[in-house]
Amino acid sequence: MSIHSTQESEKQIEVATDFDAIVIGAGFGGIRALYELRKMGLSVKVFEAATDVGGTWYWNRYPGARTDTEAWAYCYSFSKELLDEWDWADRMPTWDQVLAYLAHVVDRFDMRKHMEFSTRIKSAIYNEATKKWTLTTEAGKAYTCNYFISAAGLLTVAYEPPFKGLDSFKGKWYLTSRWPKEPVDFKGKRVGIVGSGSTAVQILPIVAQTAAHVSIFQRTPNYVVPGRNFPLDDAQRQSIKANYDAIWETVHKQVFAFPIERPHRTFDQFNSEERERIFEAGWETGGFRYFFETFEDITTNEEANAAAGEFVRKKIRAIVKDPKTAELLCPNYPFAIKRPPVGNFYYEAFNRDNVSLVDVSKDPIREITPKGVRTETEEHEFDIIIFALGFDAVTGALTNMDVRGKGGETVKNKWEAGPRTHLGITMDGFPNMFMLSGPQTPFANIPPVIEAAVTWFGTAIQRARDGGYTSIEATPAAVDTWTNHMQELLDTTLLGKGVDVGSWYLGANIPGKKPSVLFYFGGANNYFKELDESIAHEFKGVAFSNA
Ligand code: NAP
Repeated sequence: MSIHSTQESEKQIEVATDFDAIVIGAGFGGIRALYELRKMGLSVKVFEAATDVGGTWYWNRYPGARTDTEAWAYCYSFSKELLDEWDWADRMPTWDQVLAYLAHVVDRFDMRKHMEFSTRIKSAIYNEATKKWTLTTEAGKAYTCNYFISAAGLLTVAYEPPFKGLDSFKGKWYLTSRWPKEPVDFKGKRVGIVGSGSTAVQILPIVAQTAAHVSIFQRTPNYVVPGRNFPLDDAQRQSIKANYDAIWETVHKQVFAFPIERPHRTFDQFNSEERERIFEAGWETGGFRYFFETFEDITTNEEANAAAGEFVRKKIRAIVKDPKTAELLCPNYPFAIKRPPVGNFYYEAFNRDNVSLVDVSKDPIREITPKGVRTETEEHEFDIIIFALGFDAVTGALTNMDVRGKGGETVKNKWEAGPRTHLGITMDGFPNMFMLSGPQTPFANIPPVIEAAVTWFGTAIQRARDGGYTSIEATPAAVDTWTNHMQELLDTTLLGKGVDVGSWYLGANIPGKKPSVLFYFGGANNYFKELDESIAHEFKGVAFSNA
């Protein structure tokens, strides 16, 4: 319990809080926030809806789920001991490897005692008189705190199947983001997968190994780049550990915070033969290296972008034997205006006799029937249907919770026309509230962005405590500037075209959600500089006060 004094009617009263800080979520963000705030001497409580740590990785435990970031940068950098002692098994860790890592972190630093699982927070309300937040659980228990940290995640609120008739289905159906802990047996089953984004791309080749037949319903094709995962051997693990300083330096300089050196070349500098060779090398090295290690201007130069897209189409046509299926898998929009999935033998799966592609671009799904999925023209029968429909991403976690700041204003209302923040971490009208993986933070490898944001608000809280300030609040002008900056940054790229193809990073994937710039597209490297400069300039645009 902590006690702070406040003025009321010229009388000094003491207001006790249950905790100095409350964190929602025990994924990458929540764990890191807890570590930092506890180190500063604050009493901290983490509430988590799941039964254990992991966040996104706890819920999305579907077969084939793995990161598409290399293990050695999809982790925390704050502890040298932690880096030295943890051995990654794979280049791109599977969901259970990520969960094992996070469980190790919380146990190693004795953090579980600050966590309450199976507890969903339903509201967070700011009290202007006491300057405290009250968080209430779904079970109705209320807790007060000075600092409220939302680490509720950016891929948290699932896009639920919008199809009528789901209840009538006689088989079993699953949502990838609420995948059961018990194994699902596909052996001999007819399986339908609805969706063809990153999630579906990962699950299809695995399910196809045992199912009698798998049909994947594709509305929009994606540019799937090959993951080329491999298990790490001892020598590779040792080399990673010996090079961590250089790895983090590279991550902080890279546009997407990946452990990949900048290629320092643009498309125009090369002839067509050299360009093919460079694309081929990126394709072969695997993962986002096709995107980040080839040319620096893929998202800004239309010619470079068109060539990157055409190269993938050629690969699809070369891999997929049935020409009709290959053509349906070929996207015809600019590369990366939808987030490219990383696949592991995705296109190859279409050469199996037991895999078919159902094109629902012109023949949409009309309903779910007792037997399966009915499009406008045909009924497809299944024993199992898997929905991989994506998320009300980035803003959904907070707009679906009752979060109210000054004057009772809700986040949902504040963000009606799109998110409004300062640095993607804080906002006017919501004092002492900080977000991790919130809107308007970089579209990038998430753990390094989380660590930078935690350092920013940790330093701000320390400044408030040192100076005796009870309120930390972004100014409306700073929020205006940052929000306008998001659009300016997007406009320097081709990525704004993503609205036309329902891109989730622009909020264009959910019917009724107003498209807006959900991310900072200026590069993680520049975002890190913005945070450093903000700290160096004593948090310009943020008011520290006792008012
Ligand atoms: P997503 O990319 O939003 O894909 C959702 C899919 O559902 C799309 O193919 C979409 O089609 C389809 N869909 C939605 N409504 C439909 C309808 N009425 N009829 C037919 N199809 C419909 O979601 P996701 O695959 O879950 O991936 C979201 C993000 O999560 C990824 O971009 C990535 O950032 C992250 N993720 C990461 C990993 C990893 O680290 N390896 C793995 C999985 C996910 P349209 O395209 O036509 O809208």
